This record gives sequence, structure tokens and C-alpha cells, in this order.
Amino acid sequence: MPLAALSRLALLGRFFGSICRTGWCCSLWSGNSSQSSERCSLVWLSSVTRSSTRDGGCQNRLPVPDGTNVGRQCREVNVLVSETKRRPMRDVCIVGGGVSGLAASIYTARAGLDTLIVDGGESILARNASLENYPGFPDGVDARRHLELAREQARNAGVAFELGRVTSVELRDEDDLEAGFVLETEGGDPLSTRRVIAASWSDSEYLVPLDVGRIQRGSKHFVSVDDGGRTAVDGVYAAGRIAGEPHQAIVAAGHGAKVGLAAIHDSDANFYHDWVVPEGYFTGRGRDVPPGCEEIDDDERRERDERARETILEAFAEPLEERPTMHPSVDRD
Ligand SMILES: Cc1cc2nc3c(=O)[nH]c(=O)nc-3n(C[C@H](O)[C@H](O)[C@H](O)COP(=O)(O)OP(=O)(O)OC[C@H]3O[C@@H](n4cnc5c(N)ncnc54)[C@H](O)[C@@H]3O)c2cc1C
Repeated sequence: MPLAALSRLALLGRFFGSICRTGWCCSLWSGNSSQSSERCSLVWLSSVTRSSTRDGGCQNRLPVPDGTNVGRQCREVNVLVSETKRRPMRDVCIVGGGVSGLAASIYTARAGLDTLIVDGGESILARNASLENYPGFPDGVDARRHLELAREQARNAGVAFELGRVTSVELRDEDDLEAGFVLETEGGDPLSTRRVIAASWSDSEYLVPLDVGRIQRGSKHFVSVDDGGRTAVDGVYAAGRIAGEPHQAIVAAGHGAKVGLAAIHDSDANFYHDWVVPEGYFTGRGRDVPPGCEEIDDDERRERDERARETILEAFAEPLEERPTMHPSVDRD
């Protein structure tokens, strides 16, 4: 690659990193309608987002800049992105960054699949007032904080994010079913991917060109899937509520994980289980550490525990400002 192109990429990385550190990325993700209405096609380069989360970048939410600034910044990003024409073929593109999409992405990214989430708004869970049936939180948890932490976890796993609604998914080549898919997004450049996971509760219109098997129940359309979330079209999956799962967050998350695992198993990834185990758990029995697993010694275990505690303590130090999103038909004033 010519030197000029390399230095442009490095500049681009620093530019994204600096935006992320301002907290705007998280603010855009918060689902506040005044911000999310700004169409913003931010491509988080995985290396940038990974380093930006541990130093507290995205989790330190700074005051949200006014909409004009956000829009201007996003347009600058769009120009830079289109200048570089950096639209790689992804292994997995997940439509919807709610509960199930985030869970699926954590599994596919940790298995080494290049994973992108395209999200067009906010999870329906943002309407919840107090999430009290999600295991691990004895007295419940603020649902928006839960979503924020899940996004951070996905970023740490190397998941890339784009904001925007997906409007259609089509085969890249009608004659070559292995060629993957092209996703059109509102106002953005098309995206290419080998596999698609639809995790976009309430919207499956973009799947119409593929004829995956949508089922109408009342005013809603669900997607018909097998036990692993596979649809009638190879390489296309559906996860969470859109796949007809019960309307509960833990079920959506669990289903997302299961569908992520199906996508991993259908790919070339060498994978056994996603487990972190104490040193010697496998090797102490003369076994190799299976693909997807990791053995860590006690020092490393303590380090990870300390990091995990810091993250959680920081995240829960203050109450969140955001209130639950109200049902659109309720007048709040
Ligand atoms: C008021 C309320 C309270 C609730 N309380 C609880 C509770 O206490 N406990 C509980 O277990 N469950 C609760 N739920 C249910 C829970 O929120 C859902 O079951 C869960 O969020 C479903 O997860 P999902 O990933 O399928 O969908 P979501 O979490 O809604 O995620 C879907 C994502 O897809 C995005 N999207 C949609 N279309 C597109 C598109 N075309 N392109 C790109 N992105 C798109 C959306 O913006 C969204 O981010 C509650 C729901 C509501 C409405």
C-alpha cells in the first residue's frame, strides 16, 4: 500500500479514536431521538474501539454536543470513509444492535469472525423502567445501563458498529450462492457480508428481496427459523423477538448467542466452545487447549477480575440521566 494511503488510514484511525473519546459515539447510541435522527455512518475500526474502551473513552459520557455539531462531525466522517472506500467484505453483518444482536456479535467476534452491527435506532428494552428478571442483578438494573454495558462488551470483543437502517439485503451474485450478500442502508454505501443475522425486532422488510420466509401475526412480521436461527436462505439467520422468541430480554440474549454459535459453526472458524478456564484445565490432562477456549494462570485471572470490577464499579457509580423511552402513542407532556 502506498505510504500516502497508509498515513491517511493512520490519521483516520486517530480521528475515529478522538471522536470515540469524546463520548459522542455512546451518545449517538443512547437512542435520544434528537441525536439518532441525525443519520451517521460511523465505521468503528476494531483496533481503535478496542483501545478506546479500556481507557474509559466511551464509557465516560460527556455532555452531548448539540445536533448541529453531531451532524457536522458525522458528515466529516462520511467524507473520510467514502474517500478511503474502506468497505471490507465482513464475515457477519448483524442487523440490529439490541439485546439479541449484541449477544450474537459477542460470540461471532470472539470466535474471530469479522463482525459488524448495523443499528437503526434503539432497542425496545430502552422502554423498560427497571429490568428485574435478568439473572445476575439481584435487585434489577437500569435497562439502558445494561444495554450500554453490552455494547461496550461487544466493542471490547472487536465488533464494529455503524448507525443506520438497513433497507434491503440481496444476494451479491444470483448465480453464486457462496458470494454473500449486499446490504443497502439509508443514505450509506452498500455493505458486503458473507452472513447476515437479522436481529431487528419490529422490522424485517429489508429481507423481502430474499424470500426468507416471513410470517405475519397481526401487525407484526416474524421470520421463520430452525433451531439454530437459520432461515430458508443459506447464510441468513434471525435472532431474538423477530425469530418468534418470547418477548423477554434474557431469552433474546440467549437466542442471539445461540444463533451466533450457529453462524460460527456454519463458517470456516475452528471452534469448540467459548470458554476461559484455569491453567491446566485441558493441558493438565495432556490435551491441547481446544479452539475458542483459553487457559489463563492465576495472575491473569486476578488481573481480569480487577479490570472487570473497575468497569462495573465505574459504570454503576452514578445513576443514568436517561429516562425510559415512552411508547410512541403516549403523550408524555
Ligand atoms: C415497555 C417494555 C418493557 C420491557 N420490560 C422487560 C423486562 O422487564 N424484562 C424482560 O426480560 N424484557 C422486557 N421487555 C422485552 C425486551 O425488551 C425484548 O424482548 C428484547 O429487547 C428483544 O430483543 P431483540 O434483540 O429481539 O430486539 P431489540 O432489543 O428491540 O433490538 C432490535 C434492534 O434492531 C434495530 N433495528 C430495527 N430495524 C432495523 C433496521 N432496518 N436496520 C437496522 N437496525 C434495525 C432497532 O433499532 C433495535 O436496536 C420489555 C419490552 C418493552 C416494550
